[in-house]
Amino acid sequence: MKIKVHDIPQEGLSCHAEYGAEILQDITQVQEPIAVNVKIERAGRDIRVMGDIKARLLLNCSRCLEDFIWSLADEFDFLLMLPTGEKGYTEIELSHEDMDVSFFDGETVDVAQIAAEQIFLQLPVKPLCHEECKGLCPHCGVNLNLISCDCRSEANSSPFETLRDIKLKDRS
Ligand SMILES: [Zn+2]
Ligand SMILES: [Zn+2]
Repeated sequence: MKIKVHDIPQEGLSCHAEYGAEILQDITQVQEPIAVNVKIERAGRDIRVMGDIKARLLLNCSRCLEDFIWSLADEFDFLLMLPTGEKGYTEIELSHEDMDVSFFDGETVDVAQIAAEQIFLQLPVKPLCHEECKGLCPHCGVNLNLISCDCRSEANSSPFETLRDIKLKDRS
């Protein structure tokens, strides 16, 4: 959904939009449509964008390599500004220290792009199916969340573990 700046009334404009994975360049699948509520207001020459976003995406756990559903429910509030070059940018930073700032062409506000940016800001670099994910056994490759294997006792006798045991004994 694209909103022309000159169509935004003085009291602002609210809208709801839903999107599929295409706004994320199909890097993942959506479990349900990405839902965004936005309120767009004029703020002098800039545009203030407030709202919330909900998404449920299918991600791949970086430890156990299983797919899992990652949920996002977040709020946002930022200013859209025209890029004004380096000098102007310093002024912007000084006058809006507490506000997040994004840039646009000054003519259209693209709600799909706003939604995608909010998701990319939060998307984990190393997704985990859960904090305690045990991952895969480095020896036999089983998913340790599902099965336990006998490799651990062997792993304990690795040279590093032995070295650590010796050090611990030295200390006592
Ligand atoms: Zn995992
Ligand atoms: Zn194993």
